Parts: sequence; structure tokens; C-alpha cells
Amino acid sequence: MSTFQAPKGTYDLIPPKSAVTLAVREAIAAPLKNSGYGYIETPGFENVELFSRGVGESTDIVSKEMYAFETKGGDKLALRPEGTASVLRAALEANLHKAGNLPVKLWYSGSYYRYERPQKGRYRHFSQVGAEAIGAEDPALDAELIILAHQAYRSLGLRDFRILLNSLGDKECRPVYRDALQSFLRALELDEDTRRRIEINPLRVLDDKRAEVQKQLVGAPMLRDYLCDACKAYHEEVRELLTAAGVGYEDDEKLVRGLDYYTRTTFEFVHDGLGSQSAVGGGGRYDGLSEMIGGPALPSVGWALGVDRTILALEAEGIELELPSTTSVFAVPLGEEARRVLFGLVTELRRAGVAADFSYGAKGLKGAMKSANRSGARYTVVAGERDLAEGVVQLKDMQSGEQSPVPLADAANTIRERLA
Ligand code: ATP
Ligand code: MG
Repeated sequence: MSTFQAPKGTYDLIPPKSAVTLAVREAIAAPLKNSGYGYIETPGFENVELFSRGVGESTDIVSKEMYAFETKGGDKLALRPEGTASVLRAALEANLHKAGNLPVKLWYSGSYYRYERPQKGRYRHFSQVGAEAIGAEDPALDAELIILAHQAYRSLGLRDFRILLNSLGDKECRPVYRDALQSFLRALELDEDTRRRIEINPLRVLDDKRAEVQKQLVGAPMLRDYLCDACKAYHEEVRELLTAAGVGYEDDEKLVRGLDYYTRTTFEFVHDGLGSQSAVGGGGRYDGLSEMIGGPALPSVGWALGVDRTILALEAEGIELELPSTTSVFAVPLGEEARRVLFGLVTELRRAGVAADFSYGAKGLKGAMKSANRSGARYTVVAGERDLAEGVVQLKDMQSGEQSPVPLADAANTIRERLA
């Protein structure tokens, strides 16, 4: 192993590609900022209990994937594996739900940690942008979130994604279904692990990817047939609002998702160019979560989109985001006096909001022009002793290759005008 290798299952974001990551985060956040969602940031770790209670002891996330540890002071903490439980905890701590303005709408962006088997699109450190709407039960809110995620992906130019939609029922109808499903599953030929799962979280068995399991699931009772009238009406309204907004979706009665806290609306965004790690984002309604972590009843809905997989989806569709060049002007001084003068000009340009960079280190003209080229700058400013003696700098248009002297005293304004 090389000394400089990042830990297994992680990777670094490095220029110029890191600019794509920033742009993707921006693109996902933009529709949220435009729809009443305020930015929230929570710690990278929490008391482990928040996740074991909130996400659920029986889930893969908590039982297998969580980075849990004890501090020197004896606190039991975990690196956050997901965002929803933390955001709800923070909202409750700050009493946002008591300000008389529900739903509380929040968005976040950050790093998440899961001890998973690393593969393409599955990392131990990954990045999500998420949104939560806390404290309201309204099908329009579920629809809003799905529409905003759809809008975010579309704004990036993505087309080959699909929305899978399901309802998981509520505390009235899901227990009845759960019993029926358990009776069905107990009669099947399944391995030890799966039999245990039947008792703890039978809905997850439906999600089993193995063909020999799927084969036996034919004829399993479907939640759709057990939904109570209230859940049915709610789901129908979500579907109608999506359709009216021109957002297509597929009903997927087997979509259960890996977290215990979901109720009613659940959805996943899948991309068809990603192979087995096809989920680019997912979410749903979690009406019981607040009570699970010790808070009041606060019906809520949210999603999290995976930034890493969204970038893979862009690559799969061959989409190159139009990222403006980071540097507009590059300064190349020839000699000590020119260094001072051009450094001053660069500072002036930067203060005026022009993206400018400078040839540092003792480079010759050739090396400096190479740096200017690499910077992607539209203009290069070159100056030597003779130029300064004449009170000018040479302004080179890097697109046309044309070069002309401009008066030094007026250089910053001239450059700004030409860039405008
Ligand atoms: P999967 O079924 O692929 O494990 P998940 O259901 O565990 O996904 P969520 O908890 O819903 O994923 O997280 C939302 C999104 O975050 C996912 O759709 C995915 O894009 C991304 N994501 C989740 N886990 C990882 C990971 N280990 N590496 C990279 N991205 C991830
Ligand atoms: Mg997972």
C-alpha cells in the first residue's frame, strides 16, 4: 500500500473534476432554495442511539454499516450514515416545530459514512444533498419533494432516470399486512439470515435481490391490497399531483427501502446507466420517526440524493456540464519590477470581482505562458521592463491570439470592459 493512498472505499475530489461535484451539489440545492427550504448543517457524528432508534436496529445501515465508536470520555457515538435522523433531532432540539410555522422545510449537503463493500457507486464515504419537510401531512408536500428532485436531475441534463413509487401504509394498515406477509414467508425455503429477517423486518425480504428468493415470492401478499382507505386516498392524491406536474413515475409495489421509519409515500430515483448501484436517490414519508426518537408526533417527508452516483449518471449519459473557466485573467511578469506591478494589477482585478491568477515562482516566459494556457484564462497580461517604461502592459486575447498594448493606469478597467 502506498503511503499516499486514501482509506479503502474512499476517494478524493480533485480539480478539475471536483468542480463537477460542486456544480452537482448546487444544481440539486437550487430548486430547494427556490421552494422555501432553509439550509441546515448538523455534526458529522451523533449519539449512536439516535440512529439505532431512528433508522432501526434491524436495518443493514445500523447492524452492519455503521461506524460506531466510543470516545475517550466514554460517549458512544457514530459517524452519521444518513441525514434524516440528525436533521429531525436538530429541529427538535431547536424547537423549530414550535415556532408555529409547519412544515419546517430544511435542506442539507454533506458527507455520510457506511462500512460497505466498496464497488463502483458504493463507497464508505459518500456525499448526499437532502431535503426534509417536517410536521405536515399533506400529499402536496410529498409531491413537491419528488417534483423538486426531478427538476434537479433535469436541470443537470439527465434523462435516463425513472421514479419508482409506492405506499408503505401507516400504523393502521401496515401491521395487518405485516402479519399476512410473515405467515406467507414462514412457509418458504429460506436461509437462516432471511428467516430471522422475516421476524424483524419482513418487508425487507421482498427487496431480496437473489433470483431463488424472488422466485418464491410470486404470490406473496401485496401491501397495495391491504392499504386502508386513508392511505389509498393519500397515495392517489400524490400520484395525481405528479401526473398533473408532468412528472412520470412507475408504481413499484415491491419498493420498501432500507430504513425502518418510512410510512406511506416511498420513492426511489433509479438511473439505467449505472448497473447494480442504480439508485441515485430515494426518500419518503416518515410519520413515526419523531416519536421513535422521543419527540412529539410530527408527520414528515424527505429525500436524499447521492452526489457520487449522480456524477456517475452524468458520465453514463455523456453529459459534460458547462462549467465557466475558473480564471479569466492570467498575469505573466518579466522581471522584478513587473512582478510588483502585475501583482498589484491582479489584486485590483480580484477586488473588482474578476477571477485572476498570477505566474508564481521563477518561471521563464515559456513556462509562464504554459501556465496561462492551462489556467483557461481568456486574457493574459504580459509586462516587461520596456512595457513599464512606456507605461503599458501587453494584453493577449488567448482565443484569437491577438496582443496589443494597453495603458497600465487603465488596464483593470480595459480588461473588465473586454470581459463584459
Ligand atoms: P442502496 O440500495 O444502493 O444501498 P440505499 O437505499 O442504502 O441505497 P439511501 O440510504 O436511500 O440509499 O441513500 C440515498 C442515496 O444515497 C442513494 O440513492 C445513493 O445514491 C446514495 N448512497 C447510499 N449509500 C451509498 C454509498 N455507500 N456510496 C455512494 N452513494 C450511496
Ligand atoms: Mg444501502
